Amino acid sequence: MIKERRFRKILVANRGEIAIRIFRACTELGIRTVAIYSKEDSLSLHRYKADEAYLVGEDKGPVEAYLDIDGIIEIAKKNECDAIHPGYGFLSENADFARACERNGIVFIGPTPEHLEMFGDKVSARRVAIEAGVPVIPGTEEPVESLEEAREFAKQHGFPLIIKAVSGGGGRGMRVVRNEADLEEAFARASSEAKASFGNASVYMEKFLENPKHIEVQILADQSGNVVHLFERDCSIQRRHQKVVEVAPSFIDEDLRYRICDSAVQLMRKVGYKNAGTVEFLLTRDGSYYFIEVNPRIQVEHTITELITGVDIVHAQIRIAEGQLLSSAEIGIPSQEAVTKRGYAIQCRVTTEDPENNFMPDTGRVLAYRSASGFGIRLDGGNGFTGARITPYYDSLLVKISSWAIDFNDAAAKMKRSLQEFRIRGVKTNLQFLENVVSHPDFLKGEYDTSFIEKRQELFN
Ligand code: ADP
Repeated sequence: MIKERRFRKILVANRGEIAIRIFRACTELGIRTVAIYSKEDSLSLHRYKADEAYLVGEDKGPVEAYLDIDGIIEIAKKNECDAIHPGYGFLSENADFARACERNGIVFIGPTPEHLEMFGDKVSARRVAIEAGVPVIPGTEEPVESLEEAREFAKQHGFPLIIKAVSGGGGRGMRVVRNEADLEEAFARASSEAKASFGNASVYMEKFLENPKHIEVQILADQSGNVVHLFERDCSIQRRHQKVVEVAPSFIDEDLRYRICDSAVQLMRKVGYKNAGTVEFLLTRDGSYYFIEVNPRIQVEHTITELITGVDIVHAQIRIAEGQLLSSAEIGIPSQEAVTKRGYAIQCRVTTEDPENNFMPDTGRVLAYRSASGFGIRLDGGNGFTGARITPYYDSLLVKISSWAIDFNDAAAKMKRSLQEFRIRGVKTNLQFLENVVSHPDFLKGEYDTSFIEKRQELFN
C-alpha cells in the first residue's frame, strides 16, 4: 500500500518561468511555496512569487548555485518543506539529488533515482526500449569508445549517421556525419563537447534519419503502476536540434496516434515509471516511428498538452508524489478513456535572442514590456516586465506563449495576433522570427519536419 499524505510546503529548486508555474500550482492546491535564488537572481521575479525565498549557493557561480545539492537540502530542512519540485534543467534529472532528498525525508517530485539513472544514460534507455518491444533507430548497443568502433558502425549502417552524447540533452553534443572523411573529426568533437557539456565524454551512434518529425508522448504514472498518456506533441520546429515551436496534437492519423501513444505507455509500464514523463520518437515519412529518449521530468512544452486535455500536469505531479492514484478525485483520471482532447494548441518560446545575429543571446534592461492576452492565449513568464534585468547567466527564455482554438488555423491566427501584440523594448527578441514561422504556409498546412527552419531562409527576414 502506498501511504498517502498531504504536502504543506514545497520548495522549488529552479528559477524563472517554470518556478513560477509550479508556485502557482502549489498555491492553487493550498500548499505554501519556497523559492531559492542565486545572488545574480536577487531581483528575479520568481523570488517574489513564492511565500518564502532564500539565497542559495552564496559562494558559488550563478548556475552552480542552483546545483548546490547540500545548500538546497539544508534550506528545505530548515524551513520544514515536505517536498521539492525540481522543474526542468538544473537538478531535475540528477539521481544523486533525488537520493539526497529521500535520505533527508523530503519527497522528490518526480520519478525514482533508478529511473533517472536508467533514462539519463541514453544507451541504457535504448536498451530498455528494445526490451519493451518499442522500435529504436538502428544504433550502437554500447557507447562507442574508439574511432575504430565508429568506423565499424559506419561500415555496417552507412551514412549519414549521428553521434550523440550518452548523457546528452538540450540538443547539445550531437554531430551529423555524412561521409567517411568527416568521421574522425566529428567523433573527436562530439566526445569533447560531451565532456565539456555533460562531464561525460561517452558517445553513441545512430543512423541519421532524414527529415523526420519529432513526436513525443506525455505520460502520467501513479505510484501503484497505473499509466496513462495525455496524447502527443509535435516538436519538429527546431533550430540546431532545439525546440522552438510546438503543436498538440500532431498531424497524424488516429491509427498511428494510437500505436505511438500505446508504445509510450507500454515502455513506461514495463519499467514501473512514476510521475510525469515524456517518451520521444522520430517519425519518418513512411509512417515508421522510432524511440529516441525519455525525459523524466516536466517539460517546457507541457502547457500545450494541458490546453488540449484540460489536465493540469503540475497538479498531477504533486498529487502523484503525495501518493494519490490517477483515479482519485484529486487527479480524476480513472482510465485512459477518461483522457480526451479538444482542439489544437501551439507554443512559442519567446527568447531574448537576436535572429539577425545568429540568435546571440541579448542582455540588458527591459525598457518597455507589454504582453498579449485575450481568449485562447496563455502566458508562462519569468522576467518579462518593464525594468527587468536580463543577465547573461541563464537560459534566454523570456516568456512562453501558448494559444488554443478548436481549429489549428485559428490557434495559429491567435498566436500570430498575440506575437504582434507584444511590445518588448531594450532587449532583442525572436518575436518577428516566431511570427514568420507561425504564418508560413507550410506550417499552416502541417507540412513540416525537423529541417523546417534550416531549409527556409525567408523565416529570417
Ligand atoms: P536531446 O536530448 O539533446 O534533446 P534527442 O535525442 O532528444 O536529444 O534529439 C533531439 C533532436 O535531434 C531530435 O528531435 C531530432 O531533431 C534530432 N535527432 C536526434 N537523433 C536523430 C537521428 N537519429 N536522426 C535524425 N535526427 C535526430
